[in-house]
Amino acid sequence: GEAKLLLRHAPSEVKQLAQTFNMMLSRLSEAWEQQRQFVSNVSHELRTPLTIVSGYLQSVLRRSTNLNDNQREALETATSEAERTIHLLQDLLDLARADSGYIHFHLEPLILNDLAIEAATMAEKFSNRSITVKATDNVEAVADRDRLQQVLINLIDNAMKYSDPDDSIILELERIDRQAVIRVCDRGVGIALQHQSRIFERFYRVDESRARSTGGHGLGLAIVKTFVETMGGEIAVRSKPGAGSVFTIVLPIPQK
Ligand code: ADP
Repeated sequence: GEAKLLLRHAPSEVKQLAQTFNMMLSRLSEAWEQQRQFVSNVSHELRTPLTIVSGYLQSVLRRSTNLNDNQREALETATSEAERTIHLLQDLLDLARADSGYIHFHLEPLILNDLAIEAATMAEKFSNRSITVKATDNVEAVADRDRLQQVLINLIDNAMKYSDPDDSIILELERIDRQAVIRVCDRGVGIALQHQSRIFERFYRVDESRARSTGGHGLGLAIVKTFVETMGGEIAVRSKPGAGSVFTIVLPIPQK
């Protein structure tokens, strides 16, 4: 529900103050909603033409046999920037929708082992890297299958981006008390302590210069956190520069 200051038995000046305050609150929340709507509309409007641009660029690249190296490189850069921007727009749409509660989360009991193996297999297919799933038992959780899949893929994607190609990536599943625990572990560059609490913020990136070449816009972890929390879970990171990172997700288990 909406926040509101209720002061039924206060003197009239205080009541008036409360009224003004409540009016400000409701204007603020309207303004927020308008901003979300705006971001969502702009993202949507830009995505369609960009998808067309990218499609044409790719078809030109495929069909042209007489391009010189410079021309080919220019077209390839244009294509990958268009793709990167399409990705950004999709992320902005996801966030705006999650903020306004428009994404419907279908929460159901799931066996995480299958889901983790699917995510790992998908990531392996696109990357030539091997990802290990470790679990001693089947681990159940209540979650939205598609959104959790998206969360795992985002985390695995980061693990791959911020580590060397032959560094191992491990997905661990475990049940601890009445919670399901998922860990995504890498042995990559790691994250210094002062950045660890900030990487979940929108558009926050640790090293803009290096990060730029790795493709993202700093929205991936913001989406991950929003999705996990909407499913009633929590996410945290433990990391040491040079040694690697562990992202831990905790989810509720089915009530029996
Ligand atoms: P992006 O990867 O697009 O920059 P994210 O929101 O996914 O955005 O991550 C934010 C920042 O957190 C990254 O720019 C990177 O600096 C840091 N980061 C995320 N995952 C890892 C990881 N597994 N290892 C090291 N740094 C990471």
